[in-house]
Amino acid sequence: ANIPVITIDGPSGAGKGTLSKALAEQLSWHLLDSGAIYRVLALAALHHQVDIALEEALVPLAAHLDVKFVVEQHRSQVILEGEEVTAAIRTQEVSNTASKVAAFPRVREALLRRQRNFRELPGLIADGRDMGTVVFPDAPVKIFLDASAEERAERRRQQLEQAGLEVNFERLLAETVERDDRDRNRAVAPLAPADDALLVDSTGINIEKVTAIALEYIRKKL
Ligand code: C5P
Repeated sequence: ANIPVITIDGPSGAGKGTLSKALAEQLSWHLLDSGAIYRVLALAALHHQVDIALEEALVPLAAHLDVKFVVEQHRSQVILEGEEVTAAIRTQEVSNTASKVAAFPRVREALLRRQRNFRELPGLIADGRDMGTVVFPDAPVKIFLDASAEERAERRRQQLEQAGLEVNFERLLAETVERDDRDRNRAVAPLAPADDALLVDSTGINIEKVTAIALEYIRKKL
């Protein structure tokens, strides 16, 4: 496919979501929030009381996952089996469950084509952990966005508080580190920069600056 893709990978809370949305708006490209797919799978497993430790139980759930992403006036909604779950997939329980189900190779395999289907003209911004390494290895532009664990947990705290959720910072920091360790150390598609990715450390840098750095790099590469 000659449809261009810009991959944005990195640990949780590095600012990938915000950067990806800003780029998708600036370029008028499509957006894939791949983490939302793992989150929806986690929520479906919790709803249907599927044992999240059993890969063979999760694979059919992943293969038949009835999820829709509806974008209306810059607001995007996530629909699972006809029910709006946009906020429900952002809880800490779902975050932690998502990174557990995401560690299973055959679960990832079952979600691969669904993610690649987002590649449509004029182009795609793909946000996740393995966008540049596994899902879109031929992407012409790859960015790996990182930040210190403390700053990432602090950003998550702000996001969760804005969403009206209560947070315990110490626990949030511990869970952020635990989730990243699990994502970095899994056998398949671990969180890691692609060899040809631009590394950006956003610690102490605001989103406008990060977006400017990314846009300058994209202009050079495309
Ligand atoms: O990006 P987000 O925090 O929403 O992702 C939730 C979890 O889904 C991550 O912790 C990770 O385990 C998993 N994930 C993944 N591969 C992706 C995107 C997310 O394994 N491309």
